[in-house]
Amino acid sequence: MCTRLCPASARDDAPDHAPVPPSSDNFTYSLGLPGGAFCASFARAAVRRLLTLHQLDELVDLTELTVSELLSSAYLYTPNTEVSLWLRWRFGELRLTVFDQHTSHLIPQARDCQNERCRSLNLLSRVLAACGGDWGIEQRYPPVPGTSLWASLRPEGARRFAAL
Ligand SMILES: [Zn+2]
Repeated sequence: MCTRLCPASARDDAPDHAPVPPSSDNFTYSLGLPGGAFCASFARAAVRRLLTLHQLDELVDLTELTVSELLSSAYLYTPNTEVSLWLRWRFGELRLTVFDQHTSHLIPQARDCQNERCRSLNLLSRVLAACGGDWGIEQRYPPVPGTSLWASLRPEGARRFAAL
């Protein structure tokens, strides 16, 4: 039996909807974090649990490293402010995105800041280059200003990472 609270969807001819478990083919999770230094260990545990739940165990180690690096960057540039972590699995690729509240600067400070931030993610850049992954930094503008740090990982890259 399905309980519908929305009168618009409570039609007599609408089929009952049983709970649908998350699909391992395509899933998206978002996690809001308060932004302190402890968040990295919490986020690593969360992504480990989620990937294990979806039988993507081989991605766990590379994902944990990537999440740590992205959150460390967010912490360095926006210490103790809220951040969000998104995980999205589509077409055999895991996309991780960290949203922080570091807003853009005027040129040329914006370019200097972005270059410095890229340098601070040198370890991640090298690991993902060796593992066939990708990453980037994008500025976000109002109404939700800040910075997006993202990385894309694939199972074959995780196997290369395990062999390093
Ligand atoms: Zn800056």
